[in-house]
Amino acid sequence: MSTVQDQVSASLEEHSMEYHFEAFSGECTRSSAAELSEKAGKFGPDVVAGLGGGRAIDTAKAVSHELGSALVTIPTVASNDAPCSALSVQFTENHVLDRFLILERNPDVVLVDSQVIAEAPTRYFVAGMGDALATWFEAYTCTKSSAKNLPGGVTTAAALNLARLCHDTLMEYGVSAKLAVDQDAVTPAVEKVIEANILLSGVGFESSGLAAAHGIHEGLQALEGTEGALHGELVAFGTIAQLVMEDYSKGEIDRVIDFCNAVGLPVTLRQLGVSDASRENLMKAAEVACGEGLTTHNSYFEVNPDLVLEAIIGANALGDASLKRS
Ligand SMILES: [Zn+2]
Repeated sequence: MSTVQDQVSASLEEHSMEYHFEAFSGECTRSSAAELSEKAGKFGPDVVAGLGGGRAIDTAKAVSHELGSALVTIPTVASNDAPCSALSVQFTENHVLDRFLILERNPDVVLVDSQVIAEAPTRYFVAGMGDALATWFEAYTCTKSSAKNLPGGVTTAAALNLARLCHDTLMEYGVSAKLAVDQDAVTPAVEKVIEANILLSGVGFESSGLAAAHGIHEGLQALEGTEGALHGELVAFGTIAQLVMEDYSKGEIDRVIDFCNAVGLPVTLRQLGVSDASRENLMKAAEVACGEGLTTHNSYFEVNPDLVLEAIIGANALGDASLKRS
């Protein structure tokens, strides 16, 4: 079976285009991007293409930004909303958030082959739904708080409606799409959820802003045991915690938790790999989540680690209760 790289190579050759592949180190850091920029710069490319998951794509974005080239993103999984945005999230070598690099413009082409997405492990597709699940709730919060979006502007009614469409698509088609992807099948539901995970979530978060769900995801990453959790899995739990902190009704929160359970997104700390759910340990996550510059501060009220800690504990309790129900 040919790899996606083989398919891309064959297509480029067919069109007599010169190309050069460079492997990505596995982490999007300033140094990995600088190293690739130096290598790529020798070829003076007109186009830089990012092929792979979110980190590979974010690295390609940083390289294209550095070289001033056109940018094509070719996601091979739909596990996050990185492919469409004009943002490269850079980390330290230890996968701690370093900075948000805002690009001058969005990718010129976003190329998604639905069959490639469906054949990738279902867990990635489901994680993408976790990332997309946060989009509407965070966008709505940013509207209430008049928080700035990532490029420093404010949201529009159109962007907010795309964020809402992202949410509604997941609720209507998420479960059937997940079941189809389990069988490597591309159904209309799968196409809709790919659009939600990659396009609607990307445009939604970029145009309206992020809030506590993503901030709490940063905090959860600081806890021992979460190293194996995917971005969207942590964001899904962060979304539930955000809803708890924002005092959504139990009915609304349960609707989100039931969705997570139905598609296989984690709803408890244990499912994320955290075995020490003591207050002392969770306080580490709450403190990180309230760090300077993190999007938890886009809430429409003053946040502090105590508030986030109670929300994490409350979310975990609701998740636990849901597992006992089912
Ligand atoms: Zn995200």
